[in-house]
Amino acid sequence: MKRIFSGVQPTGNLHLGNYLGAIRNFVRLQNDYECIFCVVDMHAITVWQDPKQLVLNTREVAASYLAAGVDPKRHIIFNQSQVSAHAELGWIFNCVSRIGWLNRMTQFKDKAGKNKEKVSTGLYVYPNLMAADILAYKATHVPVGEDQKQHLELTRDIALKFNNDFKVDLFPVPEPLIMGAATRVMSLRDGSKKMSKSDPSDYSRITMMDDADTVAKKIRKATSDPHLIPGIEVLGENGSLPDEIRKERPEAFNLLSIYAALQDQELKDVLGEFEGKGFAEFKQSLTDLAVEKLGPMGAEMKRLMDDQSYVDGILKEGAGRAAALAEPVMREVYDAVGFLRS
Ligand code: ATP
Ligand code: MG
Repeated sequence: MKRIFSGVQPTGNLHLGNYLGAIRNFVRLQNDYECIFCVVDMHAITVWQDPKQLVLNTREVAASYLAAGVDPKRHIIFNQSQVSAHAELGWIFNCVSRIGWLNRMTQFKDKAGKNKEKVSTGLYVYPNLMAADILAYKATHVPVGEDQKQHLELTRDIALKFNNDFKVDLFPVPEPLIMGAATRVMSLRDGSKKMSKSDPSDYSRITMMDDADTVAKKIRKATSDPHLIPGIEVLGENGSLPDEIRKERPEAFNLLSIYAALQDQELKDVLGEFEGKGFAEFKQSLTDLAVEKLGPMGAEMKRLMDDQSYVDGILKEGAGRAAALAEPVMREVYDAVGFLRS
């Protein structure tokens, strides 16, 4: 059986990167896998969250899964803190994982910045909890954006070390599913940074609930360059964009890649269509496309977020089903570790 686990943090500002890099793929995977889609509220509190806002943001992520088209009858949608196995296995993995492994995590370095002494210990051990999220269900596949690849590697190391330390064959070693083009959407202001919920600038991202005027304004203000859009001759032999070319015009290629991803096309098709045009004209087409793709979904998210009891009911029911899957795994884990159960 092929089982997927994936999650999004309820840290607000759900954006186009979350949609193209994660949520849209959830919908595509649900025909081929048994899926567990989590709202990872315990990860969210690794940096300060206003408690009232956290509740609303949790519903926002759940609503985004539903509005994008995840079927909660066939698959599981729930929030992490409602299933205690995450915290329990997370603790055990804190004791399996090594400090040297965590010290290599680039996301911690990015998020902690110069302030390493002041951030929460939770932020540091975050990858161990992510391993617990995945392995509590013995998930075999994890769809990840580029930014999560390193954390999934760590999950694989933890699974192997646990099996090896306790001489068991308990955890599968999960495989990454890196899906399609534009798995890394960059900031609209700075093409060297990924689009992120935690970027202080609203103009760095298009959110899933932005209205048409806001989308238009953000795209108009997005950094681009005065050069014309190149033709397909800039692409490598396999049709992908060579890194050195992207680095010369990161913002320009980010906008072109977003267009390709929204339209479900290859970059070569977009270059073919817009070759020789300037960004003022291209941005108008990008705005129309973004509004067409995101508008109805954003409206549905708003509708769902007003229907609090429906969304909360989905999360509760999902949590019950998730807990039932994790329970036998946790029993095996406690046996392996030598925790007495009476
Ligand atoms: P934060 O800044 O709070 O970490 P985030 O924008 O990185 O927020 P996450 O909740 O950490 O969002 O990630 C949710 C999912 O969205 C993950 O699968 C992640 O790989 C994906 N994702 C996040 N940012 C991008 C991006 N810019 N491009 C593509 N995928 C992304
Ligand atoms: Mg993130």
